[in-house]
Amino acid sequence: MEAKKTVLIVEDEKNIVDILRFNLQRESYATLEAYDGESGLELALGKNPDIVLLDVMLPKMNGFDVCRALREKGSSVPVIILTAREEEADKVLGLEIGADDYITKPFSMRELMARVKANIRRTAMGAGASSGATMDTGTGLVVNTESYQVTKGGKLVDLTQREYDLLTFLASHPGKVYSRIDLMEQVWNYGYVGDDVRTVDVTVRRLREKIEDDPANPVYILTRRGVGYYFASKV
Ligand code: CA
Repeated sequence: MEAKKTVLIVEDEKNIVDILRFNLQRESYATLEAYDGESGLELALGKNPDIVLLDVMLPKMNGFDVCRALREKGSSVPVIILTAREEEADKVLGLEIGADDYITKPFSMRELMARVKANIRRTAMGAGASSGATMDTGTGLVVNTESYQVTKGGKLVDLTQREYDLLTFLASHPGKVYSRIDLMEQVWNYGYVGDDVRTVDVTVRRLREKIEDDPANPVYILTRRGVGYYFASKV
């Protein structure tokens, strides 16, 4: 039997924690809870959860700072930001600092569960993954699909799970152009939902900053104007 996946809930509103715990446990997830940012960070680093649901407005340390600190300490745990705010700037900031996804409160439990599932999907796939294939783009950028590590010129590139997923998806279909909506469906694992395609642009930008020598003139992940993105067939 597969071990239960553990969801860390970092949220200071007890009634939200209660309803999240109830619904997650009903779907066979184990849960951990923290009611402020500091203990959330501590649990995220110490208890190795499979995913973190992270509120923004928290006592002691806000959700953005928790996420930033997690990434600075090398954690690549999937993070879904729970934001009460509608502002696009907040969503983008969350993604800029290394969150994998965000969901705006009030959210439907069905939507949240779909996001949780989609965001830990890769981990589950990894458990059943076959031999340690490497994807060598022939240009010093190498993806090890068993260890989920990406190296460039022999140096490890620190990617979030989503950045890794996007890179491996595009790199395994070189030359094929994908629209933002295609990528939302293929990489994010959920259908097109409103303005969320902006997420794709932000993730592409972050990925370029990490793998390209000159992010403004990318050679790996290219833009087909008015259509979408593709991985260079020959770099
Ligand atoms: Ca709060």
